[in-house]
Amino acid sequence: MTISGNTKLYGVIGDPIMHSLSPVFQNQIIRQKNLNAVYLPLRITAQGLQGSMELLKNNFAGFNVTIPYKEKIMDYLDEIDQQALEYGAVNTVKNCGGKLFGYNTDGIGFIKSLQKAKADLAGKEVLLLGAGGAAKVLAFEIIKQGGKLTIANRNTNRAEQLAAELKNHYDVFVKIVEPGELQPDYQIIINSTPVGMYPKINQCPVNVELVQNVELVYDVIYTPLETEMVKLGKQFGAKTINGLPMLIYQGVKSFEIWTGQRVTAEEIAGIQEILKNIQL
Ligand code: NAP
Repeated sequence: MTISGNTKLYGVIGDPIMHSLSPVFQNQIIRQKNLNAVYLPLRITAQGLQGSMELLKNNFAGFNVTIPYKEKIMDYLDEIDQQALEYGAVNTVKNCGGKLFGYNTDGIGFIKSLQKAKADLAGKEVLLLGAGGAAKVLAFEIIKQGGKLTIANRNTNRAEQLAAELKNHYDVFVKIVEPGELQPDYQIIINSTPVGMYPKINQCPVNVELVQNVELVYDVIYTPLETEMVKLGKQFGAKTINGLPMLIYQGVKSFEIWTGQRVTAEEIAGIQEILKNIQL
């Protein structure tokens, strides 16, 4: 394609940003849709964020926000949708004539990944490992899907804070367990920590006993696609989901918010193939 003055700019801001997969698949969607647009990775330092807002507002039709700015970006937006307010984090910004609107598509990404795998959380004992940014979104969605939530995090105070936030919004009981004291009481285990992520791919956030009778093992990590935890789940016959579908579905939703165009199931399958085959 030819870049011209009419080319619409999209991107992802964060630091670091070099390893983001979003430019790969967002540009693929742009090509599939034959749009005069381009999606760029933009490294913005913490000191540079405020100063960058003017440039983003004047030049970009929309952008994604990743670590470490999903919360900080909220200070610079004109409006924030209800879902993003609930999570306290924004991953998608749409520029409407100089007004910036914030959304969070991570939750939709998670839910769609479950639907694709025909996995149902309702009434299930769900163990969530981690209490960071990703865990927060997952925890809200697990509750909304009717899962009975237990959180185990290295820093237990952080898990308690997350449980308190959930209780502020929903009338639910959330169990907190020390990671070292976990018993094999769960039907579903979801890892939202980076344990097992490249380059430390031999690490696993759970032991064998915990996984033995589990129905579903879900790891939000996508580098590698098959973590040690996912391998364990497969070994014991559990359904498994890796982090790729969530990543793709959240990005697809961002694209739809920016452009108003639907991405078809066929196009999504094409993106999945491309990402599976690139060196993750
Ligand atoms: P984050 O906000 O930094 O949170 C990290 C969480 O993992 C915290 O609960 C932290 O515990 C825990 N943790 C970190 N290192 C640990 C270790 N060595 N042992 C035990 N626990 C550890 O990060 P995040 O944004 O939630 O991201 C977490 C993971 O999710 C990353 O691998 C990221 O790539 C992945 N992710 C995937 C998607 C997707 O679409 N598939 C989306 C978002 C994130 P403490 O509280 O004790 O520090």
